Amino acid sequence: MSLDKQWFDEMEARIPKGEIRTRFAPSPTGYMHVGNLRTALYTYLIARHGGGKFLLRIEDTDQGRLVEGAVEVIYATMRKCGLTWDEGPDVGGPVGPYIQSKRRTLYGRYAKRLVETGHAYYCFCEKEHPEEDVDGFDREEDPCRALDPKLAQARVEAGEPHVIRQRIPRQGQTTFCDGVYGQITVDHAELDDQILLKRDGLPTYNFANVVDDHLMGITHVVRGAEYLSSAPKYNLLYQAFGWDVPTYIHCASVMINDPDTGVVRKMSKRMGDPSYEELLAQGYLSQAVVNYVSLLGWAPHGELAEQEFFTLAELIDVFEIDGISKSPSAFDMDKLTYFNASYLRALPPQEFYQAALPYIRQAVTCPDRPTQEIAALLQARCERLTDIPEKIDFFETLPDYEAGLFINKKSKTDSVVSRAMLEAAIPMLSTLSEWSNEAIHQGLISLAQSLEVKNATLMWPVRIAASGRAVTPGGAVEICHILGKEETLRRLELGLNKLIE
Ligand code: GLU
Repeated sequence: MSLDKQWFDEMEARIPKGEIRTRFAPSPTGYMHVGNLRTALYTYLIARHGGGKFLLRIEDTDQGRLVEGAVEVIYATMRKCGLTWDEGPDVGGPVGPYIQSKRRTLYGRYAKRLVETGHAYYCFCEKEHPEEDVDGFDREEDPCRALDPKLAQARVEAGEPHVIRQRIPRQGQTTFCDGVYGQITVDHAELDDQILLKRDGLPTYNFANVVDDHLMGITHVVRGAEYLSSAPKYNLLYQAFGWDVPTYIHCASVMINDPDTGVVRKMSKRMGDPSYEELLAQGYLSQAVVNYVSLLGWAPHGELAEQEFFTLAELIDVFEIDGISKSPSAFDMDKLTYFNASYLRALPPQEFYQAALPYIRQAVTCPDRPTQEIAALLQARCERLTDIPEKIDFFETLPDYEAGLFINKKSKTDSVVSRAMLEAAIPMLSTLSEWSNEAIHQGLISLAQSLEVKNATLMWPVRIAASGRAVTPGGAVEICHILGKEETLRRLELGLNKLIE
């Protein structure tokens, strides 16, 4: 016992004090969905805003649900979002290990301590449902609760399979104060004797989170509101150990208007809602996603109340727990798209180019086409990077188009006018000695002047013939420049032929 006491004392002595400490504690069960990312973000912001520490802890005690590669997805997502952690599986820290499966022996010792103090008991009942090790289960009255502790101990020592259950007091209530939902009181009669330690010796989430949050010195526990109903059981565990209860911050669900049914429901990866990775694959910028997600259930106060755009550094500055809402938030793809378009526009041109290049290359493979110039045309004109290929595929091959495209009322063009314009533009362009934007522009403007037509009357047919499209990023001049002289003239001839036929 004294050796044991020394070990427990040492565990206590390691716990850092006097600073805000938060943790993101994902289970590696797949991609990072939006709700998880929001939890990670708020957890990070609380630590950084308070000048404290942000920890990453991998909760892998539910071995049946592990997905290969999921830990790597977590690391990659956090890094891409800029959510750097001070302590974690890869960087270590004073209260490691930071992966629950590597802490497995520790939980047993704490669970036994609760058995010794009467706050938990050994249960030898057969499993009734395969899932009960994970979720705990309601049994009216567990017969093992009343077993003589000495007898139960003897059965354990004889090797009989067992779990350890929390002994919830039959009487009374637990009251706690949630940072978002305020004061909550629950009757003990509503709480079940949840499993703390499973037959395989691994803890349930319900036990591990309490032990680890205490041993890691966590001051603020941020998690989804689905855990709200379990909080009183955690409180009873903290009390049983004589530990301080951290501040709970439960975040309301993120809802979505189902694109297929129109029904508003909880966002969920099982229903096919996009994960962070999928949003990036759909052409959203990480910064835009992070900014948008920050506003799903949080709002700035005071003079910043109307502000929507925040960098991560700005969020660190302004993030306050009392800005978190207890009403569910709504994930709105159109709103995210609006954020994304603004972020794309605001990127330094070179960064936009780097982000856009793979998408430009999907449509334009020809090495002669100046990709930088194409990117410059796109920056103000795309909402998602994935919009790019279809906007610019005409640079690669001239689409098959109808001569009707040459007719445009506003530009005062019809087939006859367009034909005359192209007949004049082709020789002028072919004699240009320099193929620059300025030279092409000047050439066309002067030509319109000498023909005594509006610029648009000349530009329209040139742009249509060069692109084969009614709507293009950029005007006639830029398109001709990007195509190069030879290809421009070839296309203008083809356009002219359409009008002669
Ligand atoms: N591993 C839990 C999850 O992924 C963490 C919940 C918590 O933060 O306590 O949902």
